[in-house]
Amino acid sequence: MPEVLTTIPALRDRVGAARLSGRSIGFVPTMGALHAGHKRLIDLARSECDLVIVSIFVNPLQFDRQDDLERYPRTLDADVALCSASGVDVVFAPSSLEMYPSPPVCVVDVGRVADHLCGRFRPGHFRGVATVVMKLFEITQPDRAYFGEKDAQQLAVIRHLVSDLNVPVEIVGVPTVREADGLALSSRNQRLQPGERRVATVLYEALKDAQARIAAGEREAARVTAAAREMIERQPAVKLEYLEIVDPLDMQPVARIDGPVVAAGAIWVGGVRLIDNVICVPP
Ligand code: AMP
Repeated sequence: MPEVLTTIPALRDRVGAARLSGRSIGFVPTMGALHAGHKRLIDLARSECDLVIVSIFVNPLQFDRQDDLERYPRTLDADVALCSASGVDVVFAPSSLEMYPSPPVCVVDVGRVADHLCGRFRPGHFRGVATVVMKLFEITQPDRAYFGEKDAQQLAVIRHLVSDLNVPVEIVGVPTVREADGLALSSRNQRLQPGERRVATVLYEALKDAQARIAAGEREAARVTAAAREMIERQPAVKLEYLEIVDPLDMQPVARIDGPVVAAGAIWVGGVRLIDNVICVPP
């Protein structure tokens, strides 16, 4: 069983002892409700690091909607069991009060990389993400930290965070884990009704369509996104939030596709918001 620690001093002690004995630290930050996507990150950390720490913290600072924060699944016992089966050494599961004894005065502001995609529709979201990840890095002092490519814009934000602020952590991106029908695994999938679950795959199908058009030589991003948006709009139970083609480093929209790009989208299915993305490479 992993040690389950809930306070910052207890984790600092554990990290300090590991550092003294020269053990490398791998860190997987999560919001819990762990699934096979999270497990892929944990397995990679386990294979590369001596001490594996998984944090489980539903970070209020990154939620732009109170109802989403309240309805976010919390399944600590099952999460600890998954961590145990995956050989995790330490689960860090602090309370909100432990992480934010008072509302923070200093936060990490995120520039242009947050201007589009989710950043446009979730004001303050990436400031909340960058701030909590910075705090968690300070607390866990990892050598490597593992993030899913499923959240491509988040991964881009974290890469800028460590490079701009000289944080000595190696960021490892991990490919998206999907269901057999292509739906990206997400803690929010649990909230889909059966009918909603069936139509939720349309986002990945539209992104694959974009990927195929680009691979076949289409260079005009507007033509690619128009076709992909139309696929989603044909599905009445799904509401499209955005579908854009951006560059992989700064997440800025591109008009003409001259190199690898990311096609990324967000949809609402019932009351559930889902995101996904694929890398597209022109011939
Ligand atoms: P979350 O608990 O949703 O904040 O996710 C924690 C980490 O797991 C993030 O780095 C996510 O990108 C990653 N993750 C979530 N879902 C998947 C997935 N289907 N495949 C790979 N990584 C994922």
